[in-house]
Amino acid sequence: MTNKELIRRIGELKAKRNAIILAHNYQVPEVQDIADITGDSLELSRKAAETEASVIVFCGVHFMAETAAILNPDKVVLLPRKDAGCLMADMITPQDMEWIRREFTDTPIITYVNSTAEVKAMSTICCTSANAVSIARRFAEYPLIYMTPDRNLAMYVAKFVENKVQFWNGYCPVHDSLTPEHVLKQKEKHPEAVFIAHPECRPEVIELADQVFSTSGMLKFVEESDNEEFIVGTEIGILHTMKKRAPNKKFYPAWDLMICNDMKKTSLMDVLKALETMKPRITVPESVRIRALDAIMGMLQGQ
Ligand code: SF4
Repeated sequence: MTNKELIRRIGELKAKRNAIILAHNYQVPEVQDIADITGDSLELSRKAAETEASVIVFCGVHFMAETAAILNPDKVVLLPRKDAGCLMADMITPQDMEWIRREFTDTPIITYVNSTAEVKAMSTICCTSANAVSIARRFAEYPLIYMTPDRNLAMYVAKFVENKVQFWNGYCPVHDSLTPEHVLKQKEKHPEAVFIAHPECRPEVIELADQVFSTSGMLKFVEESDNEEFIVGTEIGILHTMKKRAPNKKFYPAWDLMICNDMKKTSLMDVLKALETMKPRITVPESVRIRALDAIMGMLQGQ
């Protein structure tokens, strides 16, 4: 089947099922292009909650579809590729969380949204890469805070808060693979370019950054900035969105191999099959959902 035919059939079924297609900024270009909304994981789930759609097709990875299911209990959430996981989210288990809670009693546990529903449910509060510093600052009266699962995000936050920050030793293999050598090479090739980095990058890479942003922050910045050239320190899929939003500007990946294989699994055919079969469906047990929702809503309150 040609892409044109796939897109036509997806459109027909989407209308029949009263579905909305969400795609993360790291998805392959053709999947981003058929989406009703593209964005980062939390932004997508929140926008889905505002729609009349009864079915959410989440083109992303497992924890993102879980977040959509947590925030949208009355909608059917489909993840076209059930095997699309997140290596960082898998680096911490509920058993690990039990250990943290035992060892660090009376310590707020701040969990990055890139985590499983069960881990969220065992946390004091969630954070995103955009609001991690402001969430941590809410706990200024505590001598210690504990952050999971991303050590790089925790080390970034630690620079802006007075508390001692302990953290789980998880990381995103895609962002953690970027080294100062990669960045310096690109800076030499493109001396006029501004280097923007994601806080999931290593501290020594963050040191070289002109600006540090979440993916949605990066997109806003490149659109509004007077600069014409950017070296982009995150998964390369976002360059497609950047080129669409700022077609006259130039974007260079900080390193060509910043590719998340799980984010690239979903194809147009997978989206079509999901709409045809209404599978794979992602659900979260209600007892977990309620507690995970508390951690997410705690984060959203006051923002
Ligand atoms: S880019 Fe990293 S954090 Fe995002 S889904 Fe892939 S492995 Fe997980």
